[in-house]
Amino acid sequence: MDQRVPILMYHKVDRIHPRSLVKGHYVSPGLFSRQIQTLKLLGFESVGLNGLFEPDRPLPKRPVVITFDDGYQNFFDKALPTLQKAKFESTVFLVARQLGGTNVWDVALGDVQEPLMAVETVKLAASAGTQFGSHTLDHVDLEKASSEEAIAQIRGSKELLESRLGFPIQTFCYPYGRMNAETPSLVRDAGYRLACSTRKGANTDQTDRYALRRINVRSDTWTPVLLLKLLRTARHGK
Ligand SMILES: [Zn+2]
Repeated sequence: MDQRVPILMYHKVDRIHPRSLVKGHYVSPGLFSRQIQTLKLLGFESVGLNGLFEPDRPLPKRPVVITFDDGYQNFFDKALPTLQKAKFESTVFLVARQLGGTNVWDVALGDVQEPLMAVETVKLAASAGTQFGSHTLDHVDLEKASSEEAIAQIRGSKELLESRLGFPIQTFCYPYGRMNAETPSLVRDAGYRLACSTRKGANTDQTDRYALRRINVRSDTWTPVLLLKLLRTARHGK
């Protein structure tokens, strides 16, 4: 396969909170809806991360994978209805010990508090076709964590999510995009199939399955800019 698969990375679909320290993480519901409608119009077809790179699942002509980090309640309220209308799949990475909680890792640094989806909400979204992956137990920096701590976070989150949600967790996403030389092998050994990084670019058969590249979509990624990024990654893989 020399086809390139772009993976979009979103965080929050909501109006920018005026006191937020990371305003780029908000994509307004209007912009999100225009982006999805435009992708649909241009013939992009969404692929769920769980089925990606499986030999018996050929890719559509214009594939796109849509991911959301952290599992915010605004995914359910403001992004999912738009995705459902377009019949687009997506994957959300959950912080296992904060289901129904908040982004305590941001709040600790002085950022605004935002609610995260609770177990029942995650189950509802799953029954509407959303896929879920792990984003560790506590949104920790795995580059700095000791091996023991990293293993506990990577394995423990898979076990906790599977026991609370009742379906298998096959994919992983590194909090802050941070990892060290050892981290990808810990993720593989814990039984995950794929892991998303924050490295830029698209993915081919040759891309490390445990450091998949993504395209960051921010509050100022206007639809033409997103299309330009997609075009560029389709041509050069970066
Ligand atoms: Zn995160």
